[in-house]
Amino acid sequence: IAIWLFFMRRMSGGGAGAGGGGQIFSIGKSKAKLFDKDTKVKTTFANVAGLEGAKEEVQEIVDFLKNPEKYTALGGKIPKGALLVGPPGTGKTLLAKAVAGEAKAPFFSLSGSDFVEMFVGVGASRVRDLFKQAKEKSPSIIFIDEIDAIGRARGKSNFSGSNDERENTLNQLLTEMDGFGSNTNVIVLAATNRADVLDKALMRAGRFDRQIYVDLPDIRERKEIFEVHLKPLKKAKDLDTDFLSKQTPGFSGADIANVCNEAALIAARNNKKAVEKQDFLDAVDRIIGGLEKKNKIITPEEKKAVAFHEAGHATVSWMLEHAAPLVKVTIVPRGRSLGAAWYLPEERLIVRPEQMLDEMCAALGGRAAEKVIFDKISTGALSDLEKVTKQARAMVTVYGLSDKVGNLTYYDSSGQNEYGFTKPYSEQTAELIDKEISDIIEEQYQRAITLLEKNKDKLIELAEVLLKDEVIFKDNLETIFGKRPFDVKKESTQENTKEEEE
Ligand code: ADP
Ligand code: ZN
Repeated sequence: IAIWLFFMRRMSGGGAGAGGGGQIFSIGKSKAKLFDKDTKVKTTFANVAGLEGAKEEVQEIVDFLKNPEKYTALGGKIPKGALLVGPPGTGKTLLAKAVAGEAKAPFFSLSGSDFVEMFVGVGASRVRDLFKQAKEKSPSIIFIDEIDAIGRARGKSNFSGSNDERENTLNQLLTEMDGFGSNTNVIVLAATNRADVLDKALMRAGRFDRQIYVDLPDIRERKEIFEVHLKPLKKAKDLDTDFLSKQTPGFSGADIANVCNEAALIAARNNKKAVEKQDFLDAVDRIIGGLEKKNKIITPEEKKAVAFHEAGHATVSWMLEHAAPLVKVTIVPRGRSLGAAWYLPEERLIVRPEQMLDEMCAALGGRAAEKVIFDKISTGALSDLEKVTKQARAMVTVYGLSDKVGNLTYYDSSGQNEYGFTKPYSEQTAELIDKEISDIIEEQYQRAITLLEKNKDKLIELAEVLLKDEVIFKDNLETIFGKRPFDVKKESTQENTKEEEE
């Protein structure tokens, strides 16, 4: 009883007292982090590397905030919102901050998931409060990260009541954006990596009517991002940023920032005076595959299987014109994988079927090598098979690249139709699709086997180097196979074009 009384006291006391009261009343207040004159946003466009197109588009927003009269004088309406769309870590938040920094405007930042919490009705009042604060400080910028947390298409998913709260929040956001006139001078920027799931109402004129795409950086942009993040580091004099950007295909800006920091830590751990190339390479490896696990227990038998598997990938991709050229192969276990091959993918905008097929053949080269050498296959090819199956399915059902199924696609860019159990094609077509997918894969597997059987001695030689050194580079491949015939061809055509110019 005493304990029960104690808790009753505490609860009622807390509820009536200042502490509890404050808590209750603050529920409807927005949790936006405010950066304004006192907590100055120091980020400017100089901090954002690459992203030329996106920077140009947001430059206009900076202009709107700085001299709204210039635009409204002619009767134009200033846009109220822009949506930054792109994968995580590509610099969307950074860009929004830079807009605030350039316009010297206060910046309210919060995440979509902050709106939606367990108390019903909180989301809507937080939105109201946020807009009220932003208007008081106008010109200002509101930045909503992960807007998909509130902005998913309404009335589409599940039966539980939990969506009501999200819908109320979304409705309030739409109301606020419609409510403020274009002279309010508050611009809402929102970020998402899934523009396709957003409610179409958000994209209507007068709301987020601009979409700015922020993509993963290409090789040249990666170099610029490296330069930004290398500035604060004490680096070796001969550090080659071209090389670093070549080694990091598919990395986002955030990954690159991470590489730079990790490299500095690795160098410090080894008591170096400056950060060197090798530190960056180690940092890249670490970020790609988790920490090296040199002491992971692996039987010699397994190691041999992994070596031949990886050598198989390397050999096949060396022999095929369109497969991505290899940079490095290792059989040092990292993270969950036992071996890995790094390629240098070309950055292509359109992909031809022969390129897809060559890549699939190279991906099947691992299993094919196991078959050719040991006449046994293993579970080690799981991720290769996953990749190949997805690619074959996409060829047939998305890109319309299969002769038998034809020039059609079952892809739906609106994302509004999720087919679940009902497929948009007949049973007959389903069978045809399955057959095509399996035929494509089988054909590439046989092609890989034939290639490897023809080059069996070289495959063995390569696997032996791999077993000895645990890692091989392009140079090793060149000593075993000679120069790639296609590279020779490319070089000579380059020379030809040069001659023509002269
Ligand atoms: P997003 O909001 O797209 O997930 P962020 O803007 O939060 O990504 O990026 C995270 C970090 O990555 C930034 O703080 C910055 O250090 C780095 N970064 C990302 N993109 C770039 C870029 N284009 N230029 C320079 N740094 C970048
Ligand atoms: Zn493999």
